[in-house]
Amino acid sequence: MFGLIGHLTSLEHAQQVAEALGYPEYANQGLDFWCAAPPQIVDHFHVTSVTGQIIEGKYVESCFLPEMLVNRRIKAAIRKILNAMALAQKADLNITALGGFSSIIFEEFNLKENKQVRNVELEFERFTTGNTHTAYIICRQLEQVSAQLGLDLSQATVAVCGATGDIGSAVCRWLDQKTDVAELLLIARNQERLQGLQAELGRGKIMELEEALPQADIIVWVASMPKGVEINPETLKKPCLIIDGGYPKNLGTQVQHPDVYVLKGGIVEHSLDIDWKIMEIVSMDIPSRQMFACFAEGILLEFEGWHTNFSWGRNQISVPKMEQIGEASLKHGFRPLLSW
Ligand code: NDP
Repeated sequence: MFGLIGHLTSLEHAQQVAEALGYPEYANQGLDFWCAAPPQIVDHFHVTSVTGQIIEGKYVESCFLPEMLVNRRIKAAIRKILNAMALAQKADLNITALGGFSSIIFEEFNLKENKQVRNVELEFERFTTGNTHTAYIICRQLEQVSAQLGLDLSQATVAVCGATGDIGSAVCRWLDQKTDVAELLLIARNQERLQGLQAELGRGKIMELEEALPQADIIVWVASMPKGVEINPETLKKPCLIIDGGYPKNLGTQVQHPDVYVLKGGIVEHSLDIDWKIMEIVSMDIPSRQMFACFAEGILLEFEGWHTNFSWGRNQISVPKMEQIGEASLKHGFRPLLSW
């Protein structure tokens, strides 16, 4: 059996969906309450591959909320992730994907040093960040939607916001090695890491966000931001394809412009329905089939019997591993979301 550890996008979102999630008593509660709430298994479902194989999974709600980072409730945030992992392990889940901020908190606060959670010694090989599949899906979305829009990659400038991150750096590697993208613009805050990435790639221009956006034909947003930013579509090139892979979304408002195309990044659609309720709660357009690519990685590892932390650590994702998970993705009936 596999697991998915997830969280909601904001306190407001959590209050709205508390009832559907099975926590009616949390609906009117503030951040303090969510900081104290224990993780719970709130969904149990089956996934059928197009090969006919059927597997079983459980969804663990960690009760982490991005406001915990904004309000420096770091201990609470750490507790949420470790407790959710311990719960997944106690429930005998063979492989569990750490969705959204779960893996970011794990890395940022070096939780590999916290193996012992009360009476559970965490076995990290039972967990995956899901980032290899997420990066693969974002790259396939970029390749396929740019072709649909008539954007020629060999003439295109691609800006990657969050380029030095786990997903961002993998996207840069793929674009460099597997496509003929003309120009890569690398955006993040830490200059040393940007220079390291530029040296690794042997290309790419390091730029500030405001400088990069007006030059980009395609923008990939994969920054770990608890709250989205506002951008003015008038400053962008036309046409412009934006792939927003953040969770919560990196874009704070919906961009309304006929020549600016915003695609939900890192989302896959399965070929067959899944009997879960959780994707409705996170507002997928087709909740029975669409999901985050990181969750789909957990599903793929279970289908393939790869009970190992396929995606782990930071900035280790190679193009061959993206190809490997990509093959499994196609084999079991997943495809990247290509429409808005
Ligand atoms: P990482 O923590 O590895 O990387 C985050 C990147 O964002 C770094 O390059 C960081 O660099 C940059 N960044 C952070 N804040 C800012 C800012 N204010 N301005 C510019 N750059 C910034 O994160 P991941 O790669 O693991 O995840 C990236 C995003 O993808 C997250 O939103 C996550 O929730 C989402 N995600 C989506 C999944 C899906 O299935 N769709 C799956 C997993 C994650 P620096 O700190 O130097 O600025």
